[in-house]
Amino acid sequence: MTSSTIDRIMERVPETRALRIGAGCMRDLPPLFASLFPGQSAFIIADDNTFQAAGESAQSMLTAVGITTFPPLIFSGSPTLHADHEHCAIIVARIHEYGAVPIAVGSGTINDLVKRAAFEAGVRYLVVATAASVDGYSSFGAALSVNQFKKTMECPAPLAILADPEILRSAPTPMGAAGYADLASKLTAGADWLIADAAGADPIDPEIWAMVQPPLRGWLAHPEGLKSGDAKALDAVFEGLTMTGFAMQVARQSRPASGSDHLFSHIWEMLGILDPNGEPPSHGFKVAIGTLIATAMMEICFRRPLTDADIEHACEQWPSWNQVEAAVADAFSSTPMYERVLEESAAKYIDTEALRARLRRMQAQWGDLGRKVAEQLMPYADLRDAFLQAECPVTPQEIGLTREAAIDTAHRAQMIRNRYTILDLLVELAWMPDVLAQLKQAPEYLTHPFGSEKEPTQL
Ligand SMILES: [Zn+2]
Repeated sequence: MTSSTIDRIMERVPETRALRIGAGCMRDLPPLFASLFPGQSAFIIADDNTFQAAGESAQSMLTAVGITTFPPLIFSGSPTLHADHEHCAIIVARIHEYGAVPIAVGSGTINDLVKRAAFEAGVRYLVVATAASVDGYSSFGAALSVNQFKKTMECPAPLAILADPEILRSAPTPMGAAGYADLASKLTAGADWLIADAAGADPIDPEIWAMVQPPLRGWLAHPEGLKSGDAKALDAVFEGLTMTGFAMQVARQSRPASGSDHLFSHIWEMLGILDPNGEPPSHGFKVAIGTLIATAMMEICFRRPLTDADIEHACEQWPSWNQVEAAVADAFSSTPMYERVLEESAAKYIDTEALRARLRRMQAQWGDLGRKVAEQLMPYADLRDAFLQAECPVTPQEIGLTREAAIDTAHRAQMIRNRYTILDLLVELAWMPDVLAQLKQAPEYLTHPFGSEKEPTQL
């Protein structure tokens, strides 16, 4: 993407005013700060790894040009820093104490903490990215745990974002791989939007679509460069993730970035799954498996013709709201998500007549839709190969799930959000059990091409 294209997009983005990507862009920090926050002082929030990677030099660049900087707030990086509200409150107190502009130096967690803290303290902030790991740098809202329950909290995106590949390459390799997978999920998220558009549930906004989908294949083109810290590969992933965040800012919702792929990962997040090393898998790694499952489900679904008999059968099978309510209670009543899931499921429930009309509408465009979805997706085998090159997980075992449990998550993932995806289509067609059974029996899906892993014991 050329700098003039980026400038054109920046004009439409409501909350972020400046983006600097590319080698040596850290030198822009002092003039950028001075133009966005004239006459103000600054302080850096980092963890001990990110302070070393970029915080220290950021601080000396600012002081060198006469910008007052207060002592940095440095969290411990091990054990892993969590995005919880207690840490956020510490930052809020420090913003009030110093009366200075916070500069987040870090990846997803530090950025989310500072994003929310700046909002609570009534100020704006700037972020220096240290890993191409998430699309959250440039999106509004922060995913924080409050009383151990993760939720997206309201807050504007940063006023400015800087990402220098020299700094991004110092991040541990799995962070770039996680970013790659989060970016690849925009393939299935786009396919879900095509399906929702065809169903009449959520029309595509062409301008928002254009911000993410046409350049997406280009951003994903260098998976092999990530592990060697290739600047072009890291830049491309960072740019893709940032543009996706901007698309969310413009759309005021996450549809451009998140489809069935992310619904799977939300369930696994709630379950607190642990990988074979006993660590919680990163957001991007959970999304990798969600994206592979979503791709497989779409491939299986659109191989099949949609007949009149299918529609009649689906209408006969269609559950009453009371039956749906009972199924939601069965799956979620013991979790903190229950009330919200019930609301989301109720909001998308339709009666049998509306179902018949929707399925007729789908039938009329079935061939076309199947072709569009196939063009939008990377074929499963290609996606898996790209993940292998980027060192993303390709089997559920790598994130601590059995293959069966990962696939069966589809039932719960369908209930949690009023956002039409392949999961809703399969439930409405009464095809979900068949498609899941086919997926489980197909040896090419969710397996490693070079051998099998041990099944994990949990779940
Ligand atoms: Zn994501």
